[in-house]
Amino acid sequence: AKAASKNSSQFFDAAMHTQVLNRVALETDLRKALEREEFVVYYQPIFDLQENQPIGFEALVRWQHPTRGFIPPDEFISVAEETGSIVHLDRWVLEKACQQIANWNQKFALNSPLKISINLSVQDLHQASLIREIDRVLAETELAGNCLTLEITESLLISEIDRTVDLLAQFASREIEVGIDDFGTGYSSLGYLHRFPVNNLKIDRSFVARFGSGNREDRVVDTIVTLGKQLGLSVTAEGIETTQQLEQLQKLGCEFGQGYLFSKPLAAAEIERLYFSNRSS
Ligand code: C2E
Ligand code: CA
Ligand code: CA
Ligand code: CA
Repeated sequence: AKAASKNSSQFFDAAMHTQVLNRVALETDLRKALEREEFVVYYQPIFDLQENQPIGFEALVRWQHPTRGFIPPDEFISVAEETGSIVHLDRWVLEKACQQIANWNQKFALNSPLKISINLSVQDLHQASLIREIDRVLAETELAGNCLTLEITESLLISEIDRTVDLLAQFASREIEVGIDDFGTGYSSLGYLHRFPVNNLKIDRSFVARFGSGNREDRVVDTIVTLGKQLGLSVTAEGIETTQQLEQLQKLGCEFGQGYLFSKPLAAAEIERLYFSNRSS
């Protein structure tokens, strides 16, 4: 028994060792990846569920690693957050996505300009230079503040409350919208919501996935939609995969939605082909 446990602990150490090496390699590669332009922004359309048409996109970053191939964000965002490189990455995404949306708005002369949603990590919001950078990008792209939505998570709202209120007020004065991502999964106390000038609640896809089955998740979705209405906030359901989910969300009066039922996140060229190919440029 002793020998076996020794073996298994050696095996465990070896596995851990590999994991640590992988991680160190990932950290080093992340730092170089920006300069080497290995990141790509994908766009997932966000639909107005009543009108059944896209009103804008969420920017979701992809990493095309030269030797490891495609690495999904769930595998590198947390590493980038811990090492601080997330700040550089997110600023790159912000600029890239704003340029893209400004370009589409100009090129396709849409009746109402498209909006772009950007994901921000807590570290981004702790940088005093964030607001200057946003101002610079909006000026450079000539994008209106109300075309930009910043998606943040609930954890931000329970730390450094005064600073967060200040920051959100600066966004509001520029008509930049703020959405709470993954709503319902964090340490949300509904009590805090009215204290913050936020505009949108994004229902986490784990709730949407089990929506329509007649169980408790149905009521989570109901409750968030009702809460949004009562607080005057728009509500977006993410991860809509079936027409049944869509129809029930429409019935509830959920305003916006995104998910594989409409479209996966796609490269800019694909978006152009699918959504704008019948428009004159
Ligand atoms: P998120 O912000 O909650 O984004 C939604 C995720 O759900 C995306 O995964 C999207 O591709 C996926 N998704 C969309 N519709 C469906 C659906 O119908 N079914 C299923 N099963 N999944 C769907 P993705 O692109 O892998 O991104 C994962 C997470 O990585 C994001 O979660 C976000 O937290 C983070 N992330 C992505 N891009 C960025 C970025 O530029 N900056 C930061 N800070 N975080 C990012
Ligand atoms: Ca998001
Ligand atoms: Ca989410
Ligand atoms: Ca998220």
